[in-house]
Amino acid sequence: MSVLDNINEKISNANSVLILTHENPDGDAIGSSLALYNALLKLEKKALVYIPIPDKTFSFLPGYSEIMTGEIMPIYKDFDLCISLDSSDLNRLGNPKELFNSIDNTICIDHHITNQNYADINYVNAVASSTCENLMVIMASLNLAINKEIAECLYTGILTDTGGFRYSCQPETMEMVATIMETGVNTAKIYRTVYDITTFAKTKLTGRCIDRLELTEDAKIAFTYVLKADLDELNLEESDTDQIVYFGRDIDSVEVSLLAKERADGTFKISMRSNEIVDVSVVASKFGGGGHVRAAGCEFSMTLDQIKQSLFEEIYKQLKDN
Ligand code: AMP
Ligand code: MN
Ligand code: MN
Repeated sequence: MSVLDNINEKISNANSVLILTHENPDGDAIGSSLALYNALLKLEKKALVYIPIPDKTFSFLPGYSEIMTGEIMPIYKDFDLCISLDSSDLNRLGNPKELFNSIDNTICIDHHITNQNYADINYVNAVASSTCENLMVIMASLNLAINKEIAECLYTGILTDTGGFRYSCQPETMEMVATIMETGVNTAKIYRTVYDITTFAKTKLTGRCIDRLELTEDAKIAFTYVLKADLDELNLEESDTDQIVYFGRDIDSVEVSLLAKERADGTFKISMRSNEIVDVSVVASKFGGGGHVRAAGCEFSMTLDQIKQSLFEEIYKQLKDN
């Protein structure tokens, strides 16, 4: 049986499905979770999306208000299938990984080249722009006609994981977008909601980070940071910092942009973006993280100076060859 047939069979036989995704969920994580949720409801299955802290940017998506949130995990145990989306390894699921391990049947749908194949069935196509794109292939194999609600969720994942269609993607990506548009999705409105609309506090935070932005002597690496105190003062969350790393990346001399975000426990989450040369997934993997060639992340429990030193050293290993 092919992987798609296997997935088909598992979903057909399931009554109650738990949907999980990675921590600090982005548009692809929430989009794919809600696309699958709406599709399962259409198939008259019981389904639950559990995301401890979702991102309010995506609250316009159908099904968002039904997401189970908070650190307390769902107590009922009648799930017969768990599907994890957009999460390359078990630890990326955060605390809900315990739930994943407790369910008999598991499927992972993802597009990260660093995926660890941790489920019973793994559908990982790293050529796809997004998990949403892979999910759309699975839905087609289930003969599930996508409606406008499902299409809005899928579009959001494809839109955000291609950086608003900035990054290269395969022709199939655009064919899928065409199918999505045929359902009547208001793509311009989703774009504005996701990328343009901001808040006064987020704009102020961006200002602080631009002020702190520094370059290496050769001006090839940009570095800035967000402190926990910034988020507290401005009443913001980590997910409100997502766009800040791009200010460094877009400077003409810069190859790699780094943003360090301090968490409540004093550790730092690093976001890395590159332009043309450096494979940042290799850099992130060196420190236990992962991601893609042009966008990756990892975590550190060190001081900012130590973090900079460690990251710069790894990045220059790749830069010196060019
Ligand atoms: P971010 O900078 O958080 O937007 O992450 C960029 C990319 O790297 C995303 O595709 C993430 O899935 C991936 N990523 C970020 N942090 C990690 C991590 N700790 N482990 C594995 N992948 C990560
Ligand atoms: Mn993601
Ligand atoms: Mn993704």
